[in-house]
Amino acid sequence: MRDYAAAMARRVADAPPPLAKPVDEIPDGSLAALRRRARGCRRCPLWRDATQTVFGAGPGDAQVMLIGEQPGSQEDLEGRPFVGPAGRLLRDALAEAGLDADRLYLTNTVKHFKFEPRGKVRLHRRANAAEQTACRPWLAAELLRVRPALVVALGAMAAQTLFGHAFRLTAERGRWRALDARTQALATWHPSAILRMRAPQRDEARAQLVADLARAADRLRR
Ligand code: SF4
Repeated sequence: MRDYAAAMARRVADAPPPLAKPVDEIPDGSLAALRRRARGCRRCPLWRDATQTVFGAGPGDAQVMLIGEQPGSQEDLEGRPFVGPAGRLLRDALAEAGLDADRLYLTNTVKHFKFEPRGKVRLHRRANAAEQTACRPWLAAELLRVRPALVVALGAMAAQTLFGHAFRLTAERGRWRALDARTQALATWHPSAILRMRAPQRDEARAQLVADLARAADRLRR
């Protein structure tokens, strides 16, 4: 009986908080090993035109994980998530909300930049459902290794990866949901979406992003 209880406890510890759709096989290894392996990922065609894999970044014991959508042009060139204009907006919002960006784990749902070349410009294109599915094991592996207490999904792609396709950001933004017994998650605006909005909607959405991040800061203090 004691062996059974120990085995069940190990099983719980070995499972990440579940995504809306199950992942068949979660890659093994430390975060550093996963990052190295993801550099050679060929699970979907997005690696071909992108500069590099943009894996998650941050402390492996972070209590909060922020999940965005996919890397933009600057992230693709630098190899780190949230370093472009959207990243600057996010960092300002985190500071206003009382969260230290250096203590968070930042990642994306899809790890390669998808774009369409237009002259010298690379126009961002949204990863399709097959590409999102192909990339899901990397996200599941990050959730398993970091095991955050709180997850903040930035934007509809990340939110639907966690909560399912019926999730509507406009209706359900900013509400905590249990992913499992150890992890709570909420969804809020992606900073890129805020940058595309016009005033006064942009100011309102930015204030909502700060308020939602402050909810995470509040939970950490409890
Ligand atoms: S987007 Fe994800 S699944 Fe596709 S090649 Fe890149 S790392 Fe692999």
